[in-house]
Amino acid sequence: MTTVEAAKLSPSESVLQSVYASAARLKTSPEVVDLLKTSWREVRAQIPVRMDNRKLHIFEGYRVQHNGARGPYKGGIRFHPLADIDEVRALAMLMTYKCALMDLPFGGAKGGVMCDPSRMSETEVNRLTRAYVQHIGMVLGINRDIPAPDMGTNAQTMAWMMDAYGQRYGYTPGIVTGKPVELGGSYGRDQATGRGVATCMREYTVHEKTNPRDLKVVIQGYGNVGSWTARIAHQIGFTIIGLSDIKGGIYNPDGIDIAAVDKHFAVAGSVAGFEPAEPVTNEQLLELPCDYLVPAALGEVIHAENAARIKARAVIEAANHPITPDGDAALNARGIPVLPDIMVNAGGVTVSYFEWTQNIQQFRWSLEEVNAELEKRVVATFHEVMGRTVRDGTLPRAAAFDISLERVAKAITLRGFV
Ligand code: GLU
Repeated sequence: MTTVEAAKLSPSESVLQSVYASAARLKTSPEVVDLLKTSWREVRAQIPVRMDNRKLHIFEGYRVQHNGARGPYKGGIRFHPLADIDEVRALAMLMTYKCALMDLPFGGAKGGVMCDPSRMSETEVNRLTRAYVQHIGMVLGINRDIPAPDMGTNAQTMAWMMDAYGQRYGYTPGIVTGKPVELGGSYGRDQATGRGVATCMREYTVHEKTNPRDLKVVIQGYGNVGSWTARIAHQIGFTIIGLSDIKGGIYNPDGIDIAAVDKHFAVAGSVAGFEPAEPVTNEQLLELPCDYLVPAALGEVIHAENAARIKARAVIEAANHPITPDGDAALNARGIPVLPDIMVNAGGVTVSYFEWTQNIQQFRWSLEEVNAELEKRVVATFHEVMGRTVRDGTLPRAAAFDISLERVAKAITLRGFV
């Protein structure tokens, strides 16, 4: 495929490129591949919300259930202006492979509402969340489909979802994960994605035989994933030299004190303006010289146009789908390793799984137990993927998709879906 053709791929077509490549290596049955090209179910709903100014706004919302051969559908809910049906479909596909890679008993799903929560009041977001549950609640269920937070949603959103679902169907804490701890959420769920990312970074230093203390890291995004990655990577000993969020970025080649950034963020609502550091744009941030570049915000930020200017030694995909297929090909051609999203950011859904099991058992694990079990699984999966790259002579993304597609295809066949 030429670069020009690749540039036209939609998010779901982009994800499918990895699936097709794996299917060709694994000689997966074409019928299984056909099944995985589309979603098992896509719900598209109008979400009417009375805004604070008394005007009615009709939002568009989705829940996409991609494949449930390995268990109930699982995946977050994104509130974002760009969360259209194809983006949500692509993210649902990624969840199928992410859950299979971590060997969690879940299929893949994703939800979204095209909206900008940063421009809405808390009461508007509350009403939107409840209306969303009212419109898609019939496809959810503790053994059917279990949502979680994603971009633009958080523990509070999950509390509203659980409450709205409970009002209609009866008290069901396990219907969503990523809830506040006070409502049956798991200790450690808020930091889990970042902890998984930082653990993969640390294990990569083991793999490369380097030391975190000698490595400089740039992180794009300071939301839940980026900020926890920064905190835990800093604790591990990495030097964080660049950070950004939607309002701008900061760069200090000598290292940034993350605790001080958190204090600044609490007042300024952004990392931008933090000192001592130079201001940089989000585009410049991606092109800073560093050891590990960690995109932890939006999708498709690295593409054919800027891949040639990336100066990192390795890219660690903390966001979902941060690199387009042609961007990925360009990085591969330049010999820059990419650790894939379905492995790197799987810590979140792994602790979601722990939360779901705790809810079902009406039991609670300590933070230490959660972190230890998470660590064990992330480290094992990391080395399973890297071992596969050595065995098959493949890149990490290919190895991760091969392991997960094998599991998904096996479950599809055993179930008799094809
Ligand atoms: N939204 C997160 C992800 O993309 C977590 C999903 C979950 O916990 O179900 O992996």
